[in-house]
Amino acid sequence: METVYIGLGSNLAAPEQQLRQALAALAALPDSHWIGASALYSSESLLPGQPRYTNAVAALATDLAPLALLDALQAIENDQGRERLERWGPRTLDLDILLFGERVIDEPRLKVPHYHMQARAFVLYPLAELVPADFVLADGRTLQGLLDECPFEGLQRL
Ligand code: ATP
Ligand code: MG
Ligand code: MG
Repeated sequence: METVYIGLGSNLAAPEQQLRQALAALAALPDSHWIGASALYSSESLLPGQPRYTNAVAALATDLAPLALLDALQAIENDQGRERLERWGPRTLDLDILLFGERVIDEPRLKVPHYHMQARAFVLYPLAELVPADFVLADGRTLQGLLDECPFEGLQRL
């Protein structure tokens, strides 16, 4: 089994409830075992004019292949009413694969490590709750190095 870290986000239709429902759906994924989840965090939208976001990170052990996991995550997003009207628009649920074991993946549908995680406090600080302090990403970057470049500022741990 490989350990995967999944970033969750919501800013529509009761975000905390969306995240709790999604965490339960992740815990029920086939061929996978629940490891744990971070606290929930709240932050301003990076784009102006959107409601605040609620975010968290979950860890699973899985035998699913990366694209099979992506399919399963997109099915959960769709079940929870995700609509893709505009890029980075408000959403009921976003599930992104942040890290997948030791893999570096560069396919049209899937880039891992997630291409923007280094810029996102709402990903890095919850992730840091789940991994050891000396955690190294599959591409060789250290989580501590990414945290040092990404201020906690604006993030609220719920
Ligand atoms: P961002 O990727 O900047 O967080 P987003 O999560 O809102 O934006 P989505 O609309 O959820 O973007 O996804 C767009 C596409 O990104 C998906 O259809 C998927 O194929 C692709 N994608 C590439 N890498 C990943 C990944 N690591 N996790 C999830 N989706 C990914
Ligand atoms: Mg996303
Ligand atoms: Mg996404």
